[in-house]
Amino acid sequence: MRPGPSTDPDTPGGEAEKVAGVVRAGVGRDFDWLVIGSGFGGSVAALRLAEKGYRVGILECGKRFADDDFAKSAWRLRRYFWMPRFGLRGIFRLTAFKDIFIVSGNGVGGGSLGYANTLYRAQPAFFTNPQWAGLAEWDSELRPHYDTAERMLGVADYEGATPADALLKAYGEQIGVGETYKQTRVGIFFGEAGEQVEDPYFGGDGPARTGCVRCAGCMIGCRYGGAWLRKRRRTFTAGGVVVAAGALGTNQLLARCKHGGALPMISPNRWRFRRASIPTPTPTSRLSPTGETVTRSAACSRR
Ligand SMILES: Cc1cc2nc3c(=O)[nH]c(=O)nc-3n(C[C@H](O)[C@H](O)[C@H](O)COP(=O)(O)OP(=O)(O)OC[C@H]3O[C@@H](n4cnc5c(N)ncnc54)[C@H](O)[C@@H]3O)c2cc1C
Repeated sequence: MRPGPSTDPDTPGGEAEKVAGVVRAGVGRDFDWLVIGSGFGGSVAALRLAEKGYRVGILECGKRFADDDFAKSAWRLRRYFWMPRFGLRGIFRLTAFKDIFIVSGNGVGGGSLGYANTLYRAQPAFFTNPQWAGLAEWDSELRPHYDTAERMLGVADYEGATPADALLKAYGEQIGVGETYKQTRVGIFFGEAGEQVEDPYFGGDGPARTGCVRCAGCMIGCRYGGAWLRKRRRTFTAGGVVVAAGALGTNQLLARCKHGGALPMISPNRWRFRRASIPTPTPTSRLSPTGETVTRSAACSRR
C-alpha cells in the first residue's frame, strides 16, 4: 500500500509512535507495519498507518474477486462459499465446529465482499456494558470516529419502500414492536440505477461508482461496480503487526502462535470475550402472500 496524503498529525516519529513503541523499518525490514487481513478492520488500519507515512504491507489469505466472479444467486454454491475440499471457491469461508457453523468473509476485502451494507452506530445500551462502561465516555469518544467511518463508507438512509418493507412493518405491528420499524442506514451509492459516475465521495481520489440497481444481491457480492492466490510461502519482516483476520481468523492465528510456541506470552484471557455479528434473515421467497415481488430492493432496507 502506498502512503497517501497525511490527514493526521501523528506522523512517524511523533507521540503516537512513541506510545505504541513502534520501531521504524530501518535496514533489513520489509515494512514498518504488516496488517494481517484485508476486511473492514485491516483495511482501515492499513489506510490510517499509510496516511501517517508508514510503509505498510497487507497479508490476505483469500483471493481477489472481480465483479464477474460473484455468484448470481446464493444457490450457486461453488461461487458463493469457500470450501475447496468440496470444490467451493466463493467469497464466504464455511468453518464447521462441533456445535456451530461459521460463515466469514474470505478474500481481498474480507466480509465487505458480500455483506448486507447495514452500518449502524451502537445503541446506548452497548456502551454501558460492564465489560467497558468504566473505561471511557464511549458515546462522545466514538462519535467523531463514527462520523469519519460513515463519510468513508458513504452511509445513507435506504430510500424508497418495497412490498417487502410493507410486510416487515405489518409484522412488526402485529407482534407489538411497530415503533422499532426504521429505514436502514446502508453503505450504498444510490445515484441513478446502473449509471456509473466518477468518484462521488472523495473529490476524485476514489474509484468510479455505479448507482445501485436494487437487485438485493448485496450478500452474494455486488456484481455492479460496488465494491489471486499466491501459494508460494514468503517471509516478511516488519516493526509491528496488526492482526485483523476477523473474529475467527484472528483467534485461530493467535491460538496457533500461542500453542505452537511462537508467541507463548499471549494471555489466555484473549479467548474469554468474543463478539460476532449475526445477520437477520431476509425474505427468501420472491413473492409476498399477495403475489408482489419482494426482492427488488437492497438486501436489507428496513429493520
Ligand atoms: C452474510 C453476512 C452479512 C453481513 N452483513 C453485515 C452488515 O450488513 N453490516 C455489518 O456491519 N456487518 C455485517 N456482517 C459482519 C461483517 O462482515 C463483519 O463484522 C466484518 O467483516 C468483520 O471485519 P474484520 O475486519 O474483523 O474481518 P473480515 O472482514 O472477516 O476480514 C478478515 C480477513 O482476514 C483474512 N484472513 C483470515 N485469516 C487470515 C490469515 N491467517 N492470514 C491472512 N489473512 C487472513 C480473511 O480472508 C478476511 O479477508 C455480515 C457478515 C456476514 C457473514
